[in-house]
Amino acid sequence: MNANCIFCKIVAGQIPSTKVYEDDEVVAFMDIGPIIKGHTLVIPKEHVDPITEAPLPLINKLMAVVQQIARAQKASLRADGINVLQANGVAAGQQVPHLHFHVIPRFNTDGHHWNWAAKKYDNPEEMRRLAESIKAAL
Ligand code: AMP
Ligand code: ZN
Repeated sequence: MNANCIFCKIVAGQIPSTKVYEDDEVVAFMDIGPIIKGHTLVIPKEHVDPITEAPLPLINKLMAVVQQIARAQKASLRADGINVLQANGVAAGQQVPHLHFHVIPRFNTDGHHWNWAAKKYDNPEEMRRLAESIKAAL
């Protein structure tokens, strides 16, 4: 447990949360600032961050719970769609540095639009160079 971490405090029961799922490794609870009502967070009980530091079996476990929550949101809330989001680092907009997946129910009429401003590469070579660089690091 990280004593300064708000999600570790939720895991430890030191601050309240509205849980929808819990097992020995994973907890899912309602986000207090929902993008859309029903917005749920899925976190490991262990303090792990960022995603690049997490052991693969834990990622697999988290993703299995993410899928279950998404299915439950579709079934119970009659969601038309689901967003799964995950941020790493301040540059990526992360506010709480404890690994978490946002599972957000979406409705045809919810009126929410992501600020997803697609840009362009300067030329095809620039994109190819970046692809080569990522491939080389795998
Ligand atoms: P992120 O920007 O990806 O780090 O998201 C952090 C999320 O945690 C935000 O959506 C917050 O609304 C949510 N959050 C922060 N504190 C709490 C809390 N005590 N209980 C539930 N959700 C929280
Ligand atoms: Zn933590």
